[in-house]
Amino acid sequence: MSQLPIAETAVVRAHARSLVRQHRRDLIKMLVLYSLAAVMALIPAWIIGRLINFAVHHQLTDPLITRYVGALFLSSITYAGLSFLARRRSYILGETVFAQLREEFLASVLTLPLVEVERAGTGDLLSRTTNDIEALSRTVRFAVPEWLVAIVQTVLTLVAMLLVSPLAALAGLVSVPFIFFSTRHYLRYATPGYMRERASYATMSGAVAETAEGARTVDAHRLASRQSERIDGTIRESFYAELYTLLMRLVWFPSVESAFALAVATTLAWSGWLALAHHLTIGAATTVTLYVVQINDPVDRIVAWLDELQIGQTSLARLVGVSVVRDDRPTQGPEPTSELITLHEVHYAYRPGHDVLNGVSLTIQPGERLAIVGPSGAGKSTIGRLLAGIDRPRSGSARIGDVEISQMPLTTLREHVALITQEHHIFIGTMRENLALAKPSASDIDIAQALDAVDALEWVQALPQGLDTELGTTGYQITPGQAQQVALARLVLTDPHTLVLDEATALLDPRAARHLERSLAAVLHGRTVIAIAHRLQTAHDADRVAVVIEGRIVELGTHDELVALEGEYASLWRSWRNEGPEAS
Ligand code: ATP
Repeated sequence: MSQLPIAETAVVRAHARSLVRQHRRDLIKMLVLYSLAAVMALIPAWIIGRLINFAVHHQLTDPLITRYVGALFLSSITYAGLSFLARRRSYILGETVFAQLREEFLASVLTLPLVEVERAGTGDLLSRTTNDIEALSRTVRFAVPEWLVAIVQTVLTLVAMLLVSPLAALAGLVSVPFIFFSTRHYLRYATPGYMRERASYATMSGAVAETAEGARTVDAHRLASRQSERIDGTIRESFYAELYTLLMRLVWFPSVESAFALAVATTLAWSGWLALAHHLTIGAATTVTLYVVQINDPVDRIVAWLDELQIGQTSLARLVGVSVVRDDRPTQGPEPTSELITLHEVHYAYRPGHDVLNGVSLTIQPGERLAIVGPSGAGKSTIGRLLAGIDRPRSGSARIGDVEISQMPLTTLREHVALITQEHHIFIGTMRENLALAKPSASDIDIAQALDAVDALEWVQALPQGLDTELGTTGYQITPGQAQQVALARLVLTDPHTLVLDEATALLDPRAARHLERSLAAVLHGRTVIAIAHRLQTAHDADRVAVVIEGRIVELGTHDELVALEGEYASLWRSWRNEGPEAS
């Protein structure tokens, strides 16, 4: 299973730059406020230095001490106020940027070609929408602002150190090579580690989601131990991936901490010696040493948040990666001039070299009801997917009117063709919302008519709050058969010209299914209906039947013609009749 793409570093950087450009003004305001706050934070060490110098050379008096203490107090209060304003701005900015990123991601996800999602598996997408969004949220809300602030504080403290005494400040720089090289080493080896860690979460989510979704199959085939071994395998992979990054941090953090301690000790010794040798006042030596102690905190934060920024960068690469997937169809295109459907010499392969359709040609007239029958794995659903534009032929053509289906914009295509399979989804929300998503402008009367067309009006009206009943995992639970009826009612509301029904009534009992198909036929009169069916009664009621075997249409005609032909269909029909239609 191939995962969705991951954006390259250059693309991620370009994305980040464009975000900075879009929010430049707010960013500058935030940085100015933080800079002012950082300057305020530098004042106490300077005042203490001055006070010491005064004490050494003059007599300290009460009014003088009061003045200095007052200045200390004032600078602390101003620092607190400015910090508050700056932090407030940075959080607002972080939330704004994060909301924008999340919306952009959602928009990309919603336009992802279905084939890509299927190819990558839901686990990958699920992991990106949960783990990666969460990681990015921490980065954008906290890591980026904290990091920028720490950089501002570090730079300003360095400038202050140089202003007080460039000579004494030199000692503080002793830690720079240690921090630089250990951090560079960490970044070089940790980035692939974080990538592996994130990818392992995706595989793990995929394995768990697949097992939970297929719980019944797992149970029926006694696959529990196999699945649990698979999940254990993915957890093991995550464990080793996390262990690797943890070991990297275990080496990196202590080296940075030791470098700090070294810087303070060296500055103290060096500036002390300078003061004794009268190259520096004791006050200046104290101020510089205090600045080195003070700079530890922002540098420590720069280093600590780097870790989070790394994770954020990998998550951003995975989120932006989704938007890199090229749309597999144009956004604009011509409208078909008619609803005639033609498949011409269509070949299709899910895996290269393994064609599952081997030259299918078929013309379906507007308003015709065609049933597609055949043994399991013959390629019936694949024909349905091609007609619905999910897949495109490897060779040959599939058209509506004069337009190639794969070249129709998705919105235009959905106005013409809709596919309903056994897979359908009930969203969290009311029954009305679940239906109206097919046609937001639908009135209650339209909705009632659609429900009536699929034999569902009676039970929907009998629900505790009728159309206002909350459904979905947290609400009222309807049966799979009822969910299928809801899916069909949505289809009636969408009202496309061509409907592809792939086992769309399979979850209903045969009698109910037949009744539903009849009610549906009355509503869909004049529409083209292509029904892929195991239940041959559907074929019996259709205008024509296509029999598909091994990716080819081997028989095509009306039910009576095909029975008279005494071929594949006739024997399928006979065995179905003998088994008894109610049983199938
Ligand atoms: P059924 O009646 O069981 O649904 P079908 O006639 O609809 O079968 P298709 O689902 O179209 O058959 O499958 C045709 C062939 O393509 C089968 O051999 C199937 O295993 C294969 N196939 C279907 N989907 C995929 C896929 N996503 N990847 C690879 N092969 C696939």
